[in-house]
Amino acid sequence: MNIYSPIHSVRLEQLTAHNVQLDIKRDDLIHPFISGNKWRKLKYILQQAKQENKNVLVTFGGAYSNHLLATATAGAIFGLKTIGIVRGEPVNNDTLFLCKLHGMELQFVSRDAYRNKREIFQALFNKNKQAFFIDEGGAGAEGAKGCSEIIQELTENYNHIFCAAGTGTTIAGILNGLTFTKKHSQVHVIPVLKDSEYLKENINELLHKPITFHFHKQYHFGGYAKTNVSLLNFITHFTQQTGIMLDPIYTGKALFALFDLLQERFFNAEDKILFIHTGGLFGTLGMKERFAF
Ligand SMILES: *Cc1c(COP(=O)(O)O)cnc(C)c1O
Repeated sequence: MNIYSPIHSVRLEQLTAHNVQLDIKRDDLIHPFISGNKWRKLKYILQQAKQENKNVLVTFGGAYSNHLLATATAGAIFGLKTIGIVRGEPVNNDTLFLCKLHGMELQFVSRDAYRNKREIFQALFNKNKQAFFIDEGGAGAEGAKGCSEIIQELTENYNHIFCAAGTGTTIAGILNGLTFTKKHSQVHVIPVLKDSEYLKENINELLHKPITFHFHKQYHFGGYAKTNVSLLNFITHFTQQTGIMLDPIYTGKALFALFDLLQERFFNAEDKILFIHTGGLFGTLGMKERFAF
């Protein structure tokens, strides 16, 4: 699995005024539909499936899940059958359309039943020796292993690294990557869910060695997939000034946090900051009516 993710420097007045450097790791460019970090997370998960001779990938997500779409696309590329268990009432939208276009079979389950994914897997695929369980969002140790390569690809040292967090798998990978490469950066986690205390434990469980990180829990904008005018304006402004698109669910919130801290003079002069663009741009299209134009 080839991953090409370049680094682009951003030039903006605010950054120059505070004398800091902002680089963006463009994982959003890895693939148009396999949202950057989902591709990294699937890398070792798919290797494991192959080793166990499983050729049916069964995974889970909401109706707008970047992970479902990533799994559907990866399945088509590698010749594996994919089954997506979708939370809630049967619906159709662009994400699910693209899942089906890539050959994914969808099954909708009630929100109640959805809570126990292992149970659903047991009930539906107990007799299917080919079926391989992939957790929602590609969460877990294999996923984190793939994400640690973000750090292994870096050729420069950074004072700060910023990344959005849902399950925390990507962040855990980044922290492990720093351990493996003996690099020292302050890592900034921006949870996109409102009640994010669970995340610290998720992250710590996946760490090879304990390592501290900044936890900025005040940038969830009301909760998962919630937005407001200032977030949408920030995304619009940033896209128009740089040509780099952000999504309102993950990357928009995380980069908003970075610029908010910049304004509060959190950084030192000449700091080098790396923002991990985890992708998810398809989510922007799912929210287009929220923008004021
Ligand atoms: C899924 C996703 C995340 C969250 O990654 P975790 O490893 O679950 O924390 C961040 N950004 C984007 C764009 C995503 O699709």
